[in-house]
Parts: sequence; C-alpha cells; structure tokens
Amino acid sequence: MKNRIWIIIFSVTVLVCTAVWIGLSFFPSPSKIVGIYQNGSLVEKVDLTAQTGERSIELNGDYGKNIISVTHGRIEMKSADCPDKLCVKHGELKSAGSPIVCLPNRIVIKFENQSGSADAEAGALL
Ligand SMILES: [Zn+2]
Repeated sequence: MKNRIWIIIFSVTVLVCTAVWIGLSFFPSPSKIVGIYQNGSLVEKVDLTAQTGERSIELNGDYGKNIISVTHGRIEMKSADCPDKLCVKHGELKSAGSPIVCLPNRIVIKFENQSGSADAEAGALL
C-alpha cells in the first residue's frame, strides 16, 4: 500500500515536470522580437524567429536612406546614407544591451523586452 502512494507521487511529479517543460518550449524567447524605432516612435515590430527568406526595410531620415536587412534570427543595418555609418559598422543585432543606433537619422533597432515600456526607452535615447 505504501509503495503505491510513492508510485503515484513519482508519476505526478514526472507529469508536472513534463507539462512545465512543454509549456516553456511553447513560448518563444522574448529576445527575438525586435522593434524598429524612428524619431522615438515604433515603425515596425519584427519577429526574427518567424522570418523566412530575406527582407529589406527602407527608412528615410534627414540624412537619406537606411536599409535594414532581416533574415531568420538576424537583423542588421545593411546600408545607410548617414555620414558616420556607425549603424552599418555595428553589424548584426546581438544583445539587448547593444542596440543598433543611427543618430543622424534617429533610428533605433533593439530587442523588445515585452514589458510595454519600450516606447519610453526609445524616446529617452533619442
Ligand atoms: Zn547611421
């Protein structure tokens, strides 16, 4: 009789762990949602994990055109007419702590933290 109880407890524990594991794997990592901001307001939100093939996003600012390249799991500033080209030199967006910024054209590309405060953050940066 005592053995049965332990078997039930063990089974329930395994079931709960499996359910939690499956549940977690269903939620995509929030760090793969990228927000593109210009003049402090959101232009577009891109889910890098949902992206298939290559896509270019064109933005026009005071210093000309910026072309953003999006591929699966990856986003970068492909070309820019701005004088410093710091945004192009930045390369691929890799971490939340290091957004792609084009100061002359007032563009920010960064990972969303999904807390809803991203607009305020981008506004403060520009
Ligand atoms: Zn730039």
